[in-house]
Amino acid sequence: MRDAILKQAKRIVVKIGSSLVSSRETGLQPERIDRLADEIAAVRADGREVLIVSSGAIVSGIKKLALRDYPKSLPVKQAAAAVGQSRLMWAYEKSFERLGMKVAQILLTHQDLADRRRFLNARHTLAALIDFQVVPIINENDTVAVDEIRVGDNDSLAAEVAHLVDADMLVILSDIDGLFTEDPRRNPSAQLIPLITEINEDLERRAGASTTFEGTGGMVTKVRAAKKVGEYGVATLILNGQEPGLLPKVLSGGPGGSLFLAKERRIPSRKHWIGYTLRPRGTVTLDQGAVDALAKRGKSLLASGIVKVSGTFEAGDPVSCLNQDGKEFAKGLVNFSSDMLTRIKGLKTVEIQQQLGPQEYEEVIHRDNLVIL
Ligand code: GLU
Repeated sequence: MRDAILKQAKRIVVKIGSSLVSSRETGLQPERIDRLADEIAAVRADGREVLIVSSGAIVSGIKKLALRDYPKSLPVKQAAAAVGQSRLMWAYEKSFERLGMKVAQILLTHQDLADRRRFLNARHTLAALIDFQVVPIINENDTVAVDEIRVGDNDSLAAEVAHLVDADMLVILSDIDGLFTEDPRRNPSAQLIPLITEINEDLERRAGASTTFEGTGGMVTKVRAAKKVGEYGVATLILNGQEPGLLPKVLSGGPGGSLFLAKERRIPSRKHWIGYTLRPRGTVTLDQGAVDALAKRGKSLLASGIVKVSGTFEAGDPVSCLNQDGKEFAKGLVNFSSDMLTRIKGLKTVEIQQQLGPQEYEEVIHRDNLVIL
């Protein structure tokens, strides 16, 4: 099963972690970039399409600006990213040019992905680049991204990109071998798991966070990325990018890394976007009847099932639906503002009409705009 999935993946998003292409001491690691470019060229020669999501801008900029420490202030971090991004691209440009391949720079923020028009626009641009056989090299637009509009880490950005381009596989290259039965730094007998069929809460909990100078994510963001793209039918492979030749070898069926299977039935792109790209502006807590109607019977959400409204939102905004335990189980686009919902929560449609006159919508969240998580 692992073999078949790896061999059949045609469109692949390869995320390259900071620790592979940059270092505190040297800034960038051009030999590593050359070696990874060679391997990506081999993967392409095998008839596949590759898009790269690369980190390393900030660390490269830190070196170039001769900063002593990782910057704490946002403007300095953004300055480092601006300086480092052009150097990073230059390194990729030179490296792929040796191989007769063209690259393109794409910088994205969460805001670009959360706006459906910009999302679709980015999708079309990337499709055109792939048609031109260019290798897109994507990073977060760190120089403008403040917290509210940031994706935040490149594992998550790579997951967004895998959805954006309808990839078959997400490959996360870092300095770790994959997912282990236990933390290998603490327990030397921990074993690498070659195939993960289901990402449950236990597995998510065990993927403890780790942070190094170069990297931001650790295992947690990788497992989260795998879960996110898995819902969209995209498998995720976590591989150690320090090991020469591993990427082409594993993709042609060899051993190494951890492969996370995707869900067999993938949710449509727009629903995935509502469920996994958009950030909720508020929450509605539902009674058990409404939870069952949504989760089990595929119904729309009506005001009568809402017991509590939190946050400030407008009609059209994304909100989370919580069950009686306060756990998020669905997400959707609301047809009413939080003010209005506070007035009509718990009421039946006729009662709403009697009290407030006819409304444009009966449903608070229409099932077409609702995703069960
Ligand atoms: N965008 C950041 C950079 O290029 C990296 C973020 C990450 O590694 O998660 O430095």
